[in-house]
Amino acid sequence: MASHYSTTPQKHASDVVVATPCGACKMLRKRCVEKCILAPHFPPTEPIRFTMAHRVFGASNIIKLLQELKESERADAVSSMVYEANARIIDPVYGSVGTIFQLQNQVNELQAQLAKAKAEIFNMNCQLEAMVSTEMCRSSQTISQQIYDEFKHDSSESSSPFVYLDNDQDSSWDIIWA
Ligand SMILES: [Zn+2]
Repeated sequence: MASHYSTTPQKHASDVVVATPCGACKMLRKRCVEKCILAPHFPPTEPIRFTMAHRVFGASNIIKLLQELKESERADAVSSMVYEANARIIDPVYGSVGTIFQLQNQVNELQAQLAKAKAEIFNMNCQLEAMVSTEMCRSSQTISQQIYDEFKHDSSESSSPFVYLDNDQDSSWDIIWA
């Protein structure tokens, strides 16, 4: 069928072939055009990204999915697909769900460890409080003992229980007992 274009048709940007194909087109061995939908997300410097995504999802599905999305959402969708593809290659059964389970288990284990550590801290604080109050009790007993010892010491120096009274102060007793 003859083309309705002239011999030198004006090419659209979507038809302009670029010299350096993107990572996706390079891998698929096809011409990469200026408006290649895959080019912004699969640079030729990171061919492994497309290799992984293509192996799991297939190039046509990736293109179809990107076409259905807004341009602002495509980068996240590609990142997600590359991540999922990597996970699926590592774990063909669970893919990224396997990673989620693993991380969830790790969270549970860490929460259990945290609860245990909190309980230990609580017990240690209780022990510390008990020690401090015992020590306070002991030191107050020591002070009482010291006072008592001092009293006894002073008492033993005099045969009289009226330790603070000298003989010449006997008259004061008269006043007290009066
Ligand atoms: Zn391309």
